[in-house]
Amino acid sequence: MNAKELIDKLYETSNLTDEELRFLLQADASIDEYLFERADCRRKEIYGNDVYLRGLIEISNYCKNNCYYCGIRCGNNKLERYRMDKETILECCKQGYALGYRTFVLQGGEDPYFTDEYICEIVGEIHATYPDCAITLSLGEKEKESYQAYFEAGARRYLLRHETAGEEHYGKLHPENLSLAHRKQCLFDLKEIGYQVGTGMMVGSPYQTVDDLIEDFRFMQELDPEMIGIGPYLTHLDTPFASFENGSMELTLRLIALLRLMFPYALIPATTALGTIHPTGREQGLKAGANVVMPNVSPTDFRKLYSLYENKICTGDEASHCRGCLEARVRSAGYEIVCAVGDSAKEKFRA
Ligand code: SAM
Repeated sequence: MNAKELIDKLYETSNLTDEELRFLLQADASIDEYLFERADCRRKEIYGNDVYLRGLIEISNYCKNNCYYCGIRCGNNKLERYRMDKETILECCKQGYALGYRTFVLQGGEDPYFTDEYICEIVGEIHATYPDCAITLSLGEKEKESYQAYFEAGARRYLLRHETAGEEHYGKLHPENLSLAHRKQCLFDLKEIGYQVGTGMMVGSPYQTVDDLIEDFRFMQELDPEMIGIGPYLTHLDTPFASFENGSMELTLRLIALLRLMFPYALIPATTALGTIHPTGREQGLKAGANVVMPNVSPTDFRKLYSLYENKICTGDEASHCRGCLEARVRSAGYEIVCAVGDSAKEKFRA
């Protein structure tokens, strides 16, 4: 089969063999126009022109982990650390709510200061104040009981990228105390509890191979996530990977399109990392199949300090500016921002 036939097969069956996926992953740029067109068509069948907003609150840049790629790793002693208190987080939600956001994403490093009790208190208060909003957590690997407690407090979504499904590759990106098996277990625990689960990987991270990407697809087929977040790997100079090159926008866009066709119902963000690697990266991400954007609602003083990688965008802008800027970008790509909770359409369509 040629590339066009393979894309048609993927559109019809949402699956391909490893060899067929390898072919599409390695093909030259001539396949992208048709691939993106098919992915956009699939996205429109399910989500129309809608783009959902997630108000991102980066609650802490303390982290007990030492992932080799990440700027907020505990071993980076050049970074000024911060954590928000409950009042600041609630103030971010207030601002976000006024701007039309109906999902709040609380993301941070694995910071033991945020005990389960404190997380539940914060989640409970957001839930009580904004019962019409979804609360998403992205606070790393926890015990199942902790995830259960957050769920009972009102959280309904959890983002935990698996980072790479290749066992050997995982070992090259992380210190020995972290394991792919545990990260996967966390994702299955979250599913079992009833969370809408998001996973994903960095594109072009050091040592990543095409086979790793195929393993990523296979793992995600097993997990069946509601959300898939991918973005290019971007180098941070104060990490052991300082000398590695950034991942590419082109491969990230191709993966977004392949993911849209393999996981038609997935909520796929056009990420900040994609906007960082290219001025119109997020717009191009939307045209390749993404349907979510994540405006930052953290106080501007903290944004630069949540420094996962170099040159992160939107660090100086007020929340209201981000809202206007994103709306214009989404429109320019041909889509419409909607102020809705924006659940995955999976259940609705399967029913
Ligand atoms: N601690 C939580 C966790 O482990 O999921 C959430 C915070 S973590 C910093 C959020 C995501 O940032 C990671 O899942 C990773 O994919 C991404 N990230 C970290 N360093 C990055 C880099 N150098 N380039 C691109 N993405 C990066």
